[in-house]
Amino acid sequence: MTRTVYLNGKYLPENEAQISIFDRGFLMADGVYEVTSVIGGKLVDFDGHAIRLARSLKELMFTGDVIAKEELLAIHRELIARNELDQGMIYLQITRGAPSDRDFVFPDPKAVKPTIVLFTQNNPKMVNNPTALKGLKVISIADERWGRRDIKTVQLLYPSMGKMMAKAAGANDAWLVEDGFVTEGTSNNAYIVKDGAIITRELSNDILHGITRAAVLRFAKEAQMAVEERNFTIAEAQDADEAFITSASTFVMPVVNVDGADVGTGKPGPVAARLREIYLEETLKTAV
Ligand code: PMP
Repeated sequence: MTRTVYLNGKYLPENEAQISIFDRGFLMADGVYEVTSVIGGKLVDFDGHAIRLARSLKELMFTGDVIAKEELLAIHRELIARNELDQGMIYLQITRGAPSDRDFVFPDPKAVKPTIVLFTQNNPKMVNNPTALKGLKVISIADERWGRRDIKTVQLLYPSMGKMMAKAAGANDAWLVEDGFVTEGTSNNAYIVKDGAIITRELSNDILHGITRAAVLRFAKEAQMAVEERNFTIAEAQDADEAFITSASTFVMPVVNVDGADVGTGKPGPVAARLREIYLEETLKTAV
């Protein structure tokens, strides 16, 4: 089945969707994105993603209401239906559009409309992901990204290089370190568990405000688990009882090794397993 994608108001076969070489997403990484997971044909935490998208656009000075939330939801749902998506993700990207030439100055928003792209990604093993039973190995690398990591921009070159560094080191992913403390993973938020407490960096411009992070911390507190939002080091992670990551596409995923040192028993721990279970159970109640 050829995938149907969405581009600027049209549903098209993926090979017919084309954008200009002058698109500012292509020339300047002038765009934002969201990834929303789909389970059983339903969108997980759609509201959270829509709210963060609006914030990212505002922070990058996109003017006006680029697209209404209701319309965005309708497009997501239409893509799920047209692609018969049961489990996977919807990728959404909005760029500042394609002016008639390359220019650092933003184009007049009345003359140049944003480019809006959405497509589905099928992943039938997202819930029953075998990696959740094995856990991930991570390495630490310097956080060399720009200073506004709270905005979900499409400039993903450094995270992409981080994944390549991890791969070259025989690991699955990298944790980014700045001023001696872990900021987050290349494409996920990072956590450790020590003496029953769930520890993760506090929100600031240094990290992406993960939608999964917000939900998991809320569910953890509801389940009377201790949560500490504070900085932690790689040494602390290596000495922790457990470690894990969260993101829209991995949910809660255990981390069993950091820079070659086993975390806890070196196997996925009970807290991460329980949080994954609670997250999947609770979040499906509000899926749309
Ligand atoms: N941090 C970074 C750098 C990310 O790229 C992501 C996923 N896009 C996350 C955290 C997790 O965010 P979410 O739970 O909203 O997917």
